[in-house]
Amino acid sequence: MTTQHNTKPNPLPAFDAVIVGAGFSGLYMLHKLREAGLSACVYEAGDGVGGVWYWNRYPGARCDSESVYYNYTFSEELYQEWTWSSRYPGQPEILRYLNFVADKFDLRRDIQFRTRVTSAHYDDDERKWRIQTNDGATVMATYFISAVGCLSATNVPKMKGLETFEGQWFHTGNWPHEKVDFHGKRVGVIGTGSSGIQSIPVIAEEALHLTVFQRTAQYSSPAQNHELEEAYVQHAKNRFHEMKQSMRESTAGFPYKRSRVSALEVSEEKRQQVYESAWAQGGLILTSTFNDLLVNEEANETLSAFIRSKIRAVVHDEKTAEMLMPNYFFATKRPILDTRYFETYNRENVTLVNVKADPIVEITPKGVRTEKGEYELDILVFATGYDAMTGPLMKMDIVGKNGEKLKDKWAEGANVKTYLGIANAGFPNMFMITGPESPSVLSNMPVSIEQHVEWIADCIQYIREQGYESIEAVKEAEEAWSKHCWEVASATLFTKAESWYTGANIKDKPVGFPIYLGGVGNYRQICTGIAERGYEGFTFQ
Ligand code: FAD
Repeated sequence: MTTQHNTKPNPLPAFDAVIVGAGFSGLYMLHKLREAGLSACVYEAGDGVGGVWYWNRYPGARCDSESVYYNYTFSEELYQEWTWSSRYPGQPEILRYLNFVADKFDLRRDIQFRTRVTSAHYDDDERKWRIQTNDGATVMATYFISAVGCLSATNVPKMKGLETFEGQWFHTGNWPHEKVDFHGKRVGVIGTGSSGIQSIPVIAEEALHLTVFQRTAQYSSPAQNHELEEAYVQHAKNRFHEMKQSMRESTAGFPYKRSRVSALEVSEEKRQQVYESAWAQGGLILTSTFNDLLVNEEANETLSAFIRSKIRAVVHDEKTAEMLMPNYFFATKRPILDTRYFETYNRENVTLVNVKADPIVEITPKGVRTEKGEYELDILVFATGYDAMTGPLMKMDIVGKNGEKLKDKWAEGANVKTYLGIANAGFPNMFMITGPESPSVLSNMPVSIEQHVEWIADCIQYIREQGYESIEAVKEAEEAWSKHCWEVASATLFTKAESWYTGANIKDKPVGFPIYLGGVGNYRQICTGIAERGYEGFTFQ
């Protein structure tokens, strides 16, 4: 690892930049800064690269972005060299891809694995960040860059008695590297978000019995995953430049065409045809079938009702089908893609428990006790998701100028406030990749990650060229961005649902909407414009 020492004697190792996290974001950030001639060190809690794809090894873990779009596009050579095997890549394949990237660009030599950043304090006098890690080391850095991701802080709900459970328990987001053997086992899955819905059919095939504890019935549509034909992959490779541009200018980071027609403008028959065709095609395309599905309740209900009818048609037992009926606006919680999820409830070895009607009281040594009974289990799986967006940042003790803690700043009021989701007033030279109030999780993330990384690298180059020591977001600019972000969100149906987007899944977390919904293409233009106008909304020292 290359360190760069200051001209003043300093007993601590010093880098131009410290990056936290070695997933999609951290890897590309390291590559970009190295290209610009900066010294950089990445700290990663895991013992390998990959981020969420390193941690989420649960059965059935798969990406919902189509593989040919779930890529870096900064290097055409890389795009041409890598070939995906299926339409939706499974976790092992994405992990192999990110390892391939790390090798190709020789990234590992500047990554310190098995090391968690515990604190980052801004030193007002030195204008540098003092960063501490869980191995007791301290380093200094001019730039502190968070690449901790939006979904790297797992949420294991505090459940009475968990420590008394005599079986094994796992969280999907921190899955063992060895295969968990479900054969002959009574398994319980708590949670029916995306991870639950991906893992439940796979576990059910192996387990003696599976009990699913569901709080929220979900809309889910078939992924229609399949192997990719060589000709299709070649076609995608040939269209590299066109696809890259289209993803960058799009609403959600995909090169899909979005409808300009209202769901309420067409006849019932036409609407059903459109939904049937999108259902058969599979994937996330359903939300783009009409232009008002996410802003108009009546329009949304036409699609929500369509999916409910599909669930009814699949699930044989009426009582179970009724428990599986979602009652929120489709896509206001994360849309889910599945492979034979609803069919799983027709299996004799699967039981569904509605924990809204029959709440979990405690975990016992033998299993899970609800108000109405006890379910004996050998293995318990928490598919309970993440403390999203702010969670991984809040786990570090981040202290900015004048001793201000990020935790305190974000505890104020109902909404987190950031400037563009990249910077925070009071925290000079700190950058967040896909931070709160950027498009982040409501986009195809590699596209949003590349945009942030490139913007941050350009910004650092500008600071250096101009001879400045630091950059900081202006409070008024931050207020205005936050207000804009909320206004855009509140014009949609997203804010009407209780979801991990809003923070409602975490006890006592302030509820807001820390995702920019104005579209990936618009957002890029805003960020580029701000940079072109000499980093409007920032001050320099
Ligand atoms: P991450 O991959 O989360 O990596 C962050 C890394 O930072 C982690 O390895 C973590 O260990 C490390 N870290 C965190 N805190 C610290 C600390 N204090 N010290 C040291 N290291 C730390 N996105 C899509 O676009 N499409 C999809 O279909 C999709 N599917 C997903 C499915 C699952 C199951 C999950 C969990 C996420 C999915 N995502 C999807 C979102 C995914 O998070 C992003 O696509 C992308 O992988 C994020 O990369 P990242 O590098 O920003 O963050």
